[in-house]
Amino acid sequence: MRLLTYDRQDAPRLALLLGDRVFDLADAAARLTAAPLPADMLAFIAAGEEAWAGARDLAARLERGEAADLARPLAATKLLAPIPRPAKNIVCVGLNYADHARETSQEVSPYPVFFAKPPTTVIGPEAPIPWHGAVTTHVDWEAELAVIIGRPGRDIPEEAALQHVFGYTIANDVSARDLQRRHVQWYKGKSLDGFCPLGPWIVTSDEIPDPQALGIRLRVNGESKQDSRTSQMIYPVARLIAVLSAGLTLEAGDLLITGTPAGVGFVRQPPEYLRPGDLVEAEIEGIGVLRNPVAQEEQ
Ligand code: ZN
Repeated sequence: MRLLTYDRQDAPRLALLLGDRVFDLADAAARLTAAPLPADMLAFIAAGEEAWAGARDLAARLERGEAADLARPLAATKLLAPIPRPAKNIVCVGLNYADHARETSQEVSPYPVFFAKPPTTVIGPEAPIPWHGAVTTHVDWEAELAVIIGRPGRDIPEEAALQHVFGYTIANDVSARDLQRRHVQWYKGKSLDGFCPLGPWIVTSDEIPDPQALGIRLRVNGESKQDSRTSQMIYPVARLIAVLSAGLTLEAGDLLITGTPAGVGFVRQPPEYLRPGDLVEAEIEGIGVLRNPVAQEEQ
């Protein structure tokens, strides 16, 4: 399934995406089934297997043409981040691609580096990345595979880890390199408002059986900057979940972004940074394209 959150009269609503048609999940459930489904992505993820199976069943019926009048065209739908406001900080992984570790000349540790971005960093597809010109001028891009936890757990073994994944989406871990350097710890430079574009939708894990076999790319103004594969990950998704969940409960709706491949701006010669008006497109095979302009003016 492809699940998205859209803006309906200023309220976020959960929907199914079938081809280029969008179906409000709660409305479709109300029309076609006796069992109601949540209108909110986080509530739906937390509702568990029974709700997910209900939505899959509903998707099959909508595909067959039932309740066709509920469809809205994707092109006329304003998408929000699939999880517009995560309940907790987003967990991020530093230095997880072999090609990115090489370009930054950093030693690879046997243990992943975790850091966080607060929920206030999240913006949706097409939303402008705010320009904080008075705070930073070294704004960089990082295309990343985002993992959404479905089944909660602690001390999850690596072999069972992917069973805890609800689905995948795309994140851009926008990074202020000058702040990152100045404050040593990464939190500040990675956490400015709007610095985590997320979307355009969640593809459920049954449609991505191997998260290590995906092309991952990023373009700025149409020019290729990153072009790699998730097979380059030093710590694959299953190991990240196993290591992160050791002694630490992962809950439904938790977000983990899994590091970026080679091709970021600050290691280029000369270094390249985003400017107001630039267009950034992060793409992952099997998911889609997350497109965001950089705002024209200070916000
Ligand atoms: Zn990153």
